[in-house]
Amino acid sequence: MILDKFSLKGKVAIVTGSNTGLGQGICKAFAEAGAKVVGVSRRPSTETAEMLGNNFYNVIADLSSCAVIPSVLKQTLDKFGRVDILVNNAGIIKREDSIDFSEGNWDSVMNVNLKTVFFLSQAVARQFIAQKSGGKIINIASMLSYQGGIRVPSYAASKSAIKGITMSLSNEWAKYGINVNGIAPGYMATNNTEALRQDGERSADILARIPAGRWGTPEDLEGAAVFLASSASDYVNGFTLAVDGGWLGR
Ligand code: NAP
Repeated sequence: MILDKFSLKGKVAIVTGSNTGLGQGICKAFAEAGAKVVGVSRRPSTETAEMLGNNFYNVIADLSSCAVIPSVLKQTLDKFGRVDILVNNAGIIKREDSIDFSEGNWDSVMNVNLKTVFFLSQAVARQFIAQKSGGKIINIASMLSYQGGIRVPSYAASKSAIKGITMSLSNEWAKYGINVNGIAPGYMATNNTEALRQDGERSADILARIPAGRWGTPEDLEGAAVFLASSASDYVNGFTLAVDGGWLGR
C-alpha cells in the first residue's frame, strides 16, 4: 500500500540541530512516522526529548568541528545499533555588509553549514555501505541555494554549495542505494530569521513576495522530510526540493 512506503518504522535517523526550529519539527515528524531519532545539538534538546520520549536520544556535540563526527556515529550505534537516515539541518547565518565581512563570519558559517555536513555525510555513508542497507541523506539547503541574498555572503556560498554536494554525492552513492537529496525551505519563522522578522521593512518586503501569503513553519517541512527519508523516494536522487510557499516560482 502506498502509505506504507512513507513509514519509517524500524528506521534510525540522525537529525542535527534538534533542539529548536526546523530540526525539532523534523525529529517530531520522523518519530510520528515510526523512527528512532538521534538528535545532535550543542545545547540539550530538552523540549524535543520531552515531546518524543523513548524514541529520542540526544547527542551533545558542537558541529563547528569535524572532530565530533566519530563520537556522534558511535553514540548512535551504541544506542540504536544502526543508522538509516541523516538530516544535515544544523546551520548558522551571519549578517554583515560584504564590504566589511570578517574572516570569522566566513569560516564559522562554512564550517557548520558545509564542511561538517560533507564529512558527517561521508561517515554516515560509510556506515550505510558497511550495513549493506542503503540509506537516506537529506541536506537542508535554502532559497540562497538559488539566490544571492543581502548581507549574507558566507551563508549564500554555503547553501549554494549544499545544493552542489547534494548532486555530487548522489552521483557517487546512488549505486549503494543511498539517496542524497535536499530540502530548500523558504522563509520560515524560526530563530534563524528572527533578525529579519524584527526588521519591519525587510519583513514586509519578504511577506509581500511570498505567493502563499505567510511565513512558513517547521510543520510545513514535515511532509517533504518524511517523503525523502522513506522508501517512497527511492528513485529520487540529487534533487533539492523547495518548500517555500511559491517564493522561487515567482
Ligand atoms: P534555528 O532555529 O536557528 O536552528 C538552527 C539549529 O542549528 C539549532 O538547533 C542550532 O543549535 C543548530 N546549530 C547551529 N550551530 C551549531 C553547532 N555548531 N553545533 C550544533 N548545532 C548547531 O534555525 P532553523 O531555521 O531551524 O534552521 C535550520 C536549518 O534550516 C539551517 O540549516 C538553516 O540554514 C536552514 N534554513 C532556514 C530557513 C528559515 O527561514 N528559517 C530558511 C532556509 C534554510 P543552537 O540552538 O544551539 O544554536
